[in-house]
Amino acid sequence: METKTKKLKESLLIWYKNNKRSFNWRHTNDPWKILLIEIISQQTQINRANIYYQKFIKKFPTPESMSRSTLKTILKMWSGLGYNNRAIRLYESSKLISEKGFKNIYPNFELLPGVGQYTKNAILSFAYGEKVLALDTNLERVLTRYFAADSTKDYVKKYSDFLLKDVDSRDLNQALMDLGSSICTSSNPKCNICPLEKNCKKYIIRSENSVEKFEGSNRELRGKIIKLLVMQNQITIKNIAKKTSEDEEKIMTAINSLENDGLLKVRKNNTVEINSN
Ligand code: SF4
Repeated sequence: METKTKKLKESLLIWYKNNKRSFNWRHTNDPWKILLIEIISQQTQINRANIYYQKFIKKFPTPESMSRSTLKTILKMWSGLGYNNRAIRLYESSKLISEKGFKNIYPNFELLPGVGQYTKNAILSFAYGEKVLALDTNLERVLTRYFAADSTKDYVKKYSDFLLKDVDSRDLNQALMDLGSSICTSSNPKCNICPLEKNCKKYIIRSENSVEKFEGSNRELRGKIIKLLVMQNQITIKNIAKKTSEDEEKIMTAINSLENDGLLKVRKNNTVEINSN
């Protein structure tokens, strides 16, 4: 497991170096900025969240500046984002942070309204460089597929130390988020251009399945029959069964489909030949 984890980190971080998405808040370790973008981006597509983030950080560069504002002003600025509860919780958080200070709340950010385990870990990793995984849906998907894990949470519990060893957790988290949102997408993952493809269990299982599916399939049998007919013009169904070691029922299914496609003809004496019409 350690080798597989090591390979994931190596390939992923090389890919990330050349493909990372660039946002202002990715270049800061200010916990207020991290909290702001994390709350705004909950249930909101990241490029759209970024537009709102720019507006908010300009008007409220510190939690104190927001705490001195009014809920009405914040809701007005929030307009169009939906889920207004997030704005209310953000406002309440700004008041609590202004009163206590981030350093007195650290590391218990779950005490802030609207902050769950994911957001807490995002703040700990992105603002404080703590060795934690910010397990959002993108990370879960990539890790579940790569390790073919039954439960990503169990996997993370057992192996997060391997994952986080010798890497900047911020890079690792952001790289997994970027990979999950651009390549290892929930539907139609682009495995053929994925940097993890060589060692990804999901990819390997899928490739093995497609080989298995072909082996013993009607498609494979059709190919074998055509090959026999190319070599010897005519052949009896019995002989096909003998040469392919398949039962006659399966052979008849393949022959019928080949006949329907106009590729061969069945003669009255149970002999088949290539359709030359
Ligand atoms: S190979 Fe495919 S399934 Fe595996 S991590 Fe990459 S995109 Fe996801």
